Amino acid sequence: MQRIVVLAGGIGGARFLRGLRSAAPDAEITVVGNTGDDIHLFGLKVCPDLDTVMYTLGGGIHEGQGWGRAGETFTVKEELAAYGVGPEWFGLGDRDFATHIVRTQMIAAGYPLSAVTEALCARWQPGVRLLPMTDDRVETHVLIDDPEAQGEEGGRKAVHFQEYWVRLRASVDAHAVVPVGAEAAKPAPGVLEAVAASDVVLFPPSNPVVSVGTILAVPGIREAIADAGVPVVGLSPIVGDAPVRGMADKVLSAVGVETTAAAVAAHYGSGLLDGWLVDTVDADTVGAVEDAGIRCRAVPLMMSDEQATAEMAREALRLAEEVRA
Ligand code: GDP
Ligand code: CA
Repeated sequence: MQRIVVLAGGIGGARFLRGLRSAAPDAEITVVGNTGDDIHLFGLKVCPDLDTVMYTLGGGIHEGQGWGRAGETFTVKEELAAYGVGPEWFGLGDRDFATHIVRTQMIAAGYPLSAVTEALCARWQPGVRLLPMTDDRVETHVLIDDPEAQGEEGGRKAVHFQEYWVRLRASVDAHAVVPVGAEAAKPAPGVLEAVAASDVVLFPPSNPVVSVGTILAVPGIREAIADAGVPVVGLSPIVGDAPVRGMADKVLSAVGVETTAAAVAAHYGSGLLDGWLVDTVDADTVGAVEDAGIRCRAVPLMMSDEQATAEMAREALRLAEEVRA
């Protein structure tokens, strides 16, 4: 049986996983999920990326939106707002609230996030093993200009990633992206074991900085992947020099990486990445990626439906076999 490990963020990761699951129905798929986006709201622990993967693969996702629950209502949020209790910029629906209540209750009872995630998945049956990258607290912060604090060179402040992404809609420049706590975090139980036992490691078209980059920032994970001696293949989230959705260009600039499929491949580097898929519109960059020591193919990379996404997954697995040979 083929054992596949996937490092996933939210929407891009989850949609790719749905295609992978249908392309490789007999494979054992372990997903290492990003928890740098996690945030405490209303006293509850919210794990947006883990939940997006769980709801998408479990059939509970709001399809059009890509995050949150289908058929959602917002009574709790409205009632909180009536008390003047925010934040109002983060969309938490009634159904979604239940997930966060269960999670927070279990954590308060002493269960690690990995055990809580397993318990939540017992309901959703995602068909993959979903592991948080770590049980420790990691919080991605983004450094932005602070107009209130005018120093000599202009003041700056760090905000939580969700505040940058959701409240500010990445409308201001990011000067740095810091996964606070990552350097002291340990991979969650099962993560290093799954990587060591894998036949192939895939990077879905997730955000290279705040999704895959955050997972790789947990000491031991990058090393385990490089040392596993198995093909590592990624799919570009950048198509035609722009993110397919979202504002990944903002956080790529913050780490000095151009918003091109080739630059993202070079950012991961040939020490980590063996193969890279770019979209057919970026076919002219295949040579540059290969010159950097990464096998590259141009194939359609738009996850327009499950069939198109499954074909992307097949191409990634094909490229993995090619670099293995
Ligand atoms: P997030 O945590 O919800 O932001 O999701 P991810 O980090 O997993 O994925 C976000 C990335 O997915 C963005 O940078 C998008 O460019 C990329 N993305 C979304 N849809 C598609 C698609 O259809 N094709 C490709 N190639 N990338 C996509
Ligand atoms: Ca995310």
